[in-house]
Amino acid sequence: MTRYIFITGGVVSSLGKGLASAALGALLQARGYKVRLRKLDPYLNVDPGTMSPYQHGEVFVTEDGAETDLDLGHYERFTGVNAARADNITTGQIYKTIIEKERRGDYLGATVQVIPHVTDEIKQFVLSDPGEGVDFVLVEIGGTVGDIEGLPFFEAIRQLGQELPRGQTCYIHLTLLPYIKTAGEMKTKPTQHSVKELRSIGIQPDILLCRCEFEIPASERRKIGQFCNVRESAVIQAMDSANIYAVPLDYHQQGLDREVLDVFGLTDTAPAPNLARWEDISTRMNHPDGDVNIAIVGKYTGLTDAYKSLVEALVHGGLASNVRVKLDWIEGEAFEREDALIAERLAEVHGVLVPGAFGERGAAGMIRAVQFAREHRIPYFGICFGMQMAMIETARNLAGIPRASSTEFGPTSAPVVGLMTEWVKGNARETRSEADDLGGTMRLGSYEAALMPGSKVAGIYGALTIHERHRHRYEVNIGYREAIEKAGLAFTGLSPNGVLPEICERPDHPWFIGVQFHPELKSRPFDPHPLFSSFISAAKERSRLV
Ligand code: GLN
Repeated sequence: MTRYIFITGGVVSSLGKGLASAALGALLQARGYKVRLRKLDPYLNVDPGTMSPYQHGEVFVTEDGAETDLDLGHYERFTGVNAARADNITTGQIYKTIIEKERRGDYLGATVQVIPHVTDEIKQFVLSDPGEGVDFVLVEIGGTVGDIEGLPFFEAIRQLGQELPRGQTCYIHLTLLPYIKTAGEMKTKPTQHSVKELRSIGIQPDILLCRCEFEIPASERRKIGQFCNVRESAVIQAMDSANIYAVPLDYHQQGLDREVLDVFGLTDTAPAPNLARWEDISTRMNHPDGDVNIAIVGKYTGLTDAYKSLVEALVHGGLASNVRVKLDWIEGEAFEREDALIAERLAEVHGVLVPGAFGERGAAGMIRAVQFAREHRIPYFGICFGMQMAMIETARNLAGIPRASSTEFGPTSAPVVGLMTEWVKGNARETRSEADDLGGTMRLGSYEAALMPGSKVAGIYGALTIHERHRHRYEVNIGYREAIEKAGLAFTGLSPNGVLPEICERPDHPWFIGVQFHPELKSRPFDPHPLFSSFISAAKERSRLV
């Protein structure tokens, strides 16, 4: 029997609903249950793929190639369960489906309405097969209660509470208890109003998860319980935490999993939780052996949400080497202006990373960062755009191809990076679907790559066949392989058909690796990605030297 937990938010956005959902998933898992997490996004975009990273943060790519909300990244990192296309839906997707059905005449002349047609689509998504033996499906609703665009979603989960057998659903509401400094008091009124709003839609929360800066006084807890019609024990304190991987432990201490099990009548039968791996991670995070400084020379650097998985993967790499990873965010554009700045910012760092990016702005600065890291033997990690920039740097500065560029930046006589359709004639495509045109779409999701025996990456992975997730439109041009390899940058990972360069490395450098995929998407705190562990370990090595 699958049980459903709905997680809604109130008062303000950005309270960390995704993290809360992921942490609860981890707690239920720690008790031996099988979980699946899903996210309902009320915005009208079909998916976040086209949304600005400044506005929406990272686009998280699943194994099956869906571009999804970054919360799915939290779900994967906390539970280790791979998310899929079937775990994220938006209003845009729902309307697209409904309008297509309507045009085909599938509704047989009926008037198509929000209730029941939109709500039915939402329910169908929530109930769609969660897979073998899943005990709990956790469903997070994006936005906050009261948003106009969220209404059909709240209505759909309300209906599910009536339609599913009794005792099979649980509603958790995440709210904020602001602390008013001048009054020296924690305020419960916004939470009361938020729950009132939720109840006016017909949803009575079972549990309140209250974000706060300070402990909730017993009197306030009682008051919240009374006014919101929630058991006092189910008013759970969710205090700010400096370390997100301590959140499952905090929630457990506050009794969140106990209350959830109580809602489902499982208190007596539920196994005790095994939180050993979370305790281990928390301890290691709190007692690092030292620091390493990593410079991230990218775009969108003002907002770390745009590189969410990357930041976490670096933390995981640090866990593997018992160091705290400190990040220095640098806009690529800053390096386009003066050399002095590059030396000043990079000379002391222990690693340089150029992450994924789109468009030409800042590229020249990133290329100079690559050059500096190469010449000064600083560990260099190029991810996606960062690999493309490494190729261009070698081509221009060492292979005698001064005009080397990417067609992403406009027409060039030396397309070291370009659309594959620009250099491969015929149908040598290695895409998921033959109908997909690589020229018009992105290469998304998991693809296999073959590693060169004896290469550094083969050693790091301990394998010759790997699978990694992609999200890019441009590729390194295999036609330049000979010239670039002669200049010292080896092509050590290729697509199985040998056409698409997936990894490059410099055998003459302490650690210089570029990858066309996004390894950060598969890193987990308790299973750090080997490339990140290895990169941070090389950075740690360098920290001993400089
Ligand atoms: N803009 C580049 C491309 O589309 C790189 C994309 C990325 O870094 N994710 O190929």
